[in-house]
Amino acid sequence: MRNQIQSKIDDIYLRHLNNTAGSPASYIPELAKADPRSFAIVVTTIGGEVFSVGDSEVLFSMQSTSKPFTYGMALQDLGRVFIMSKVGVEPTGEAFNSIVELEKNTHKPYNPMINSGAIAISSFIKGSSFEDRLKNMIEFFSLFTEKKIHVDEKVFESEKNTAHRNRSIAHLLRHFGVIDGNIEDSLDLYFKQCSFSLNTIDLSLMAATLANNGVNPKTNNKALNQEYVGDILSLMFTCGMYDTSGKWAYSVGIPAKSGVSGAIFGVVPGELGIAVYSPSINEHGHSVRGIKVFQDLSRELNLSIFRK
Ligand code: GLN
Repeated sequence: MRNQIQSKIDDIYLRHLNNTAGSPASYIPELAKADPRSFAIVVTTIGGEVFSVGDSEVLFSMQSTSKPFTYGMALQDLGRVFIMSKVGVEPTGEAFNSIVELEKNTHKPYNPMINSGAIAISSFIKGSSFEDRLKNMIEFFSLFTEKKIHVDEKVFESEKNTAHRNRSIAHLLRHFGVIDGNIEDSLDLYFKQCSFSLNTIDLSLMAATLANNGVNPKTNNKALNQEYVGDILSLMFTCGMYDTSGKWAYSVGIPAKSGVSGAIFGVVPGELGIAVYSPSINEHGHSVRGIKVFQDLSRELNLSIFRK
């Protein structure tokens, strides 16, 4: 299959190059500045081979593609029992920034892939100060890449200044006793992780590290305890695409996570990681071309975990 990958991604790239549907996210003003023509597809195998086409070195902020990694970090630091007591593992069928199920039903976030769950998870990240917690997070994320991750401060400021909905979610979490401590610090940590800046090659290596049981195929660093890889992938599969997770499972069949910057990454366990970047998103917050690429790639290379 490996020698097919490059020609296949070249082909799929050209097929979708002229699709201009959707537009870059604007509710975080800095994200609206992305060039909608940017488009990249990168596949990294668990052997460390990289196949790439398009603008694979263009930087973007991780946004919600960061959520699975912070979840892994929290599981590793605090254990499954504590994390499960705070954040559930059920899909919501609601948008990523929904507040309704938190208020109406459990008073606890349904899962760590939606904003309520991810804000709670960030609040649990350990450290002696805010700076120390951020440093720990950056060090953890950097184990999945080949270089040190940095924060896009413009995106961070832009999100911090406009995050009225996330702020209300955090206050509700505090009200229900899911989180404690300084709410602003927890939100800032969440905004920082959403502002981690990388390119499509980096994101596909992060995906490949999850495909490789938590070991980075390029550096051989043990990024994540193997024990927790399945926790992350199962939640990406059931909740990673929010209210379109069912359709994604049916039409793509690969655990995946999207971000409103236009990135989507997917993990084929024991085989490879895939990342696509194209900033124009649909009403669910997913890259329009990203969805098309994953659907085609999965079908044409038989990547669905149910079609082996
Ligand atoms: N930072 C974004 C937010 O909280 C992340 C959302 C996303 O990528 N779906 O709104």
